[in-house]
Amino acid sequence: MTGESLVCEPARLDWSEPSGPRAADYGDVYFSAEDGLEETRAVFLTGCGLPEAWQGRRHFVVGELGFGTGLNALALWQLWRETRPAGAWLDFVSVEKHPLSRDEAVRAFAAWPDLEPLTTRLLKQWPSRQKGVHRLVFPEDGFAITVIHDTVEAALADMDFRADAWFLDGFAPAKNDAMWSQDVLDQVGRLSAPGARIGTFTVAGHVRRGLQAAGFEVAKRPGFGRKRERLEAVFPGTSAATMPLPRKVAIIGAGIAGASLARAFAGRGSEVVVFDAAGPAGGASGAPAGLLTPRLERADRPHVRATLAAFDYARRCYEGFDGFYPGGVVRLAKDEREAQRFAGIAALMDERVEWDGSVLQMHAAARIEPARIVARMLGDVPVCQARIASVSETDNEVLLVNADGKTLCRADCVVFACGAGMTAWYPDISPSAGQVAVFAGEAPARPVTWGGYACAAPGGVLVGATHVAGEDAGPDEPAIAGFREAYARHFPSLKAGEVVQTWCGVRASTPDRLPVAGALGPRSFVLSGLGSRGFAHAPLLAEHVAALAHGHMPALPRSAAEAFDPARFEIRRQRRGG
Ligand SMILES: Cc1cc2nc3c(=O)[nH]c(=O)nc-3n(C[C@H](O)[C@H](O)[C@H](O)COP(=O)(O)OP(=O)(O)OC[C@H]3O[C@@H](n4cnc5c(N)ncnc54)[C@H](O)[C@@H]3O)c2cc1C
Repeated sequence: MTGESLVCEPARLDWSEPSGPRAADYGDVYFSAEDGLEETRAVFLTGCGLPEAWQGRRHFVVGELGFGTGLNALALWQLWRETRPAGAWLDFVSVEKHPLSRDEAVRAFAAWPDLEPLTTRLLKQWPSRQKGVHRLVFPEDGFAITVIHDTVEAALADMDFRADAWFLDGFAPAKNDAMWSQDVLDQVGRLSAPGARIGTFTVAGHVRRGLQAAGFEVAKRPGFGRKRERLEAVFPGTSAATMPLPRKVAIIGAGIAGASLARAFAGRGSEVVVFDAAGPAGGASGAPAGLLTPRLERADRPHVRATLAAFDYARRCYEGFDGFYPGGVVRLAKDEREAQRFAGIAALMDERVEWDGSVLQMHAAARIEPARIVARMLGDVPVCQARIASVSETDNEVLLVNADGKTLCRADCVVFACGAGMTAWYPDISPSAGQVAVFAGEAPARPVTWGGYACAAPGGVLVGATHVAGEDAGPDEPAIAGFREAYARHFPSLKAGEVVQTWCGVRASTPDRLPVAGALGPRSFVLSGLGSRGFAHAPLLAEHVAALAHGHMPALPRSAAEAFDPARFEIRRQRRGG
């Protein structure tokens, strides 16, 4: 998959008709000229029996083919806010091959003033054109949107969920046949819960027959406005009971992993308790300053899409926090070969990553003050300063015990977020120690990386970082001399003065340099192995783990979840052995 772009072709909108935008490539409208919002309500919401279908439910999933302007998501969200069962969660999962830009969405939303303030909230998290998953979470409303930017065939084949309702809203079958193929309709069947209902505007014969072949019972209904008919379909069976909720969750570790988990679980209504032997940001997440940068690779692969999605998600989480300084980061190339590699990477990305002929500009990257970000992500979740020595699991609870054998906590589930401390519980994490130093003096205008990095920090300029296998970063002096030398080489006009602060921490590394995020057992989960980019990857992976524990829509498609699966190293060992 090397060389394939990591961004989708944008939607091309034709605004020449006063009634609303048309998709230039499909010759079809995005929404009804008469009243798009009323049509959405009639065809999709009423067509799927909403809101009655979600009454009494703790979790409900709506799937959609064709995110388009997001009108259906907005109408659904509005109805959910008005009729949501107490404490329930709604997952909306949609697929889009040609995403609208934020500016186009602003223009389209002008047609629906009634949907304010939801349009503003959606625009705040409007997804980039990046391929793959985009997760938008609105915990105050118990609502999450998962949009996959891809062809519908590829997106559905890489997902496992059970939808209770479907909005089939691709462009008309005559104009976009691929969206209505038998393969796609079969996938809709595979991803449907018993009793799932479908609403769609088309009554095309092959769609009706295709839905029947996929297992649905299909019926025509009177259409909306000038359309004579629309279609409803029902999957046989009745919906099964949902899994028990993890009401109380214990998290071991209050670094960026634990803080992100606390936020994701608390947002789902769990009672959360965090334990940390050293207090919040007392481990690797406590450097004086750091960078939020995307992990860049010149390939379209599941883990590449997922880590880019994680970077976007983290950025949206931290936006507006104290300790978050957007403004971009510059990456220097060490030689011509690396320059070519960076130019190749930029060619795969959107305008936020740009090779300007001499350096790689990462415009969406940012400088951070890590401990302040951790504090904001923790919010008001309590942190108990204690070391957990052992965890035991029974059929209905987990027990967290200290070195004196005292049970400190009983909870419904536990998440290990103990960074390099994970080596005690999981064999495939290894420690990698590192140092940074803050020098008096001026920092470069934009943070700069070259393998090492330099950025502004409280008291001066921070230069980092060393990588030493094990838990001991070694003596300060050789590292400080190395930082001075690198700073003088890259910034001859700037001076690194006296040492204001040194800091060292221990990263958690894995054999394939990818994080571990997922289930270890029925009541235990892990988020660790975050290596050198914990601040970019933790929030989305935490959202993924919290969704798994709650039985909600995972934040990652199957292939990406497998790339981060805690069991992968054992599976690989067994394959090699057998
Ligand atoms: C020198 C250096 C520079 C870095 N720079 C950056 C950067 O610029 N940008 C970036 O994104 N990343 C950077 N990183 C990496 C980043 O710091 C890590 O990826 C991230 O902090 C990992 O977060 P975590 O929550 O998994 O681990 P940690 O922050 O280490 O948190 C784990 C916590 O678990 C606690 N704990 C462990 N065991 C137990 C136990 N048994 N009981 C109770 N508590 C326990 C520890 O006290 C610790 O606080 C850097 C790392 C280093 C070392």
